[in-house]
Amino acid sequence: MNVIEIIAKKRDGLVLSWEELYFIVQEFTRGTVPDYQMSAFLMAIYVKGMVKSEVLNLTQAMVSSGDTLDLSSVPGLTVDKHSTGGVGDKTTLVLAPLVASAGIPVAKLSGRALGHTGGTLDKLESIPGLRVDLSAEELVQQVKKIGIAIASQSKNLVPADKKIYSLRNVTATISSLPLIASSVMSKKLAAGAGAIILDVKAGKGAFIHTLEEAKDLANLMIAIGKSANRKMCAVISKMDEPLGYAIGNSIEVKEAIDTLHDNGPQDLTELCLVLGAQMLLLTGKVKTSEDGKRILTKQLKEGRAWKTFLELVRAQGGTIDMLLAPNSFPQTELKDQLVSHKSGFVHTVDALLVGEASLVLGAGRLERDEEINHAVGIRLNKKVGDKVGLGENLAIVYSNKQAKLGKAKKILAQAFQVYKEKPVKSPLIYQILK
Ligand code: URA
Repeated sequence: MNVIEIIAKKRDGLVLSWEELYFIVQEFTRGTVPDYQMSAFLMAIYVKGMVKSEVLNLTQAMVSSGDTLDLSSVPGLTVDKHSTGGVGDKTTLVLAPLVASAGIPVAKLSGRALGHTGGTLDKLESIPGLRVDLSAEELVQQVKKIGIAIASQSKNLVPADKKIYSLRNVTATISSLPLIASSVMSKKLAAGAGAIILDVKAGKGAFIHTLEEAKDLANLMIAIGKSANRKMCAVISKMDEPLGYAIGNSIEVKEAIDTLHDNGPQDLTELCLVLGAQMLLLTGKVKTSEDGKRILTKQLKEGRAWKTFLELVRAQGGTIDMLLAPNSFPQTELKDQLVSHKSGFVHTVDALLVGEASLVLGAGRLERDEEINHAVGIRLNKKVGDKVGLGENLAIVYSNKQAKLGKAKKILAQAFQVYKEKPVKSPLIYQILK
């Protein structure tokens, strides 16, 4: 097979076969197709798109580039969840133990922060001692024993995606639906769960801005999952303002702890209940999403989700003392308030700008291997729809460096828009697709 012919075929908008896609993905992963040819190929996909059968084949070709996780020895249908990424998105920390506490095995492979969006692994690693680098054997044993594990992907799980994603990052080919769908779903299929729930974010702080595009992406990912015999559901949720009030790492763990005590922000709690109820429906535990929500609300209120979270932390080597006394979380040397220069109602808390401000503080990373600071972050005091007085506190910024604090505050000030009239708030959940 000839790589140039494959690139030319896609350039001309023709449909590629399984053999052609398999060939180019395997050879690129092995290093025999150079970056410059793969870049041209990715750009051809970006410009010409792909039909559904090509996206299914591309995804399977990527899955075949490495190891897959075998969860068949775990009794029951295992669930996994993926979020397309948001600001203040600590959903997994609440949702995974919540659903596991209701008897559904959760095997979750998570990612790290990149760009303005946070990563579950970094948040978890702000708990001293907690390990996320579980071997496949450890992960399976833990799910069998306590019903839950949250771990990083092994190096050889979809190695094609790691190489392709790095190239997309520097060739302006990230925002292509076939490339995003195959990237996300190849990792989810390789991770082995029988049921997959997707939290597809749409809005200012997400990499998909419109509802229409989010729906197209969700439908494409559902089709990929179903073609691989997975039970699938996608919830499209709003990501215009950050989820909850906390943005950072340990500060988000604290907010997750509050939510696990049924004392969390309304939007985060709602999202966890909606996603969780769909997980219970997918696995056949309940017949209606209302029943699912009822069960999960009870799990939260009666402390069972919190107990499962503590079991998860213990099983992965984390110290729970700090979780039992959240005021003992590491503090930053500096903190400062952002105050409002107007009175009125908050119309916007731009999630992208808040994410950028937290990145400046060191809570996230621009490059894959950058160190992050677990203690720094932002706590919003006001969200969209809230009344605010002149000079009232909009947010608190936590930092260890004065210069970073000043820069983050400037960005954060642009994130808030306050006007006289009360805004009409749109719902958090746009749509549920199956
Ligand atoms: N997340 C992924 O894993 N892949 C993409 O292409 C975009 C977001």
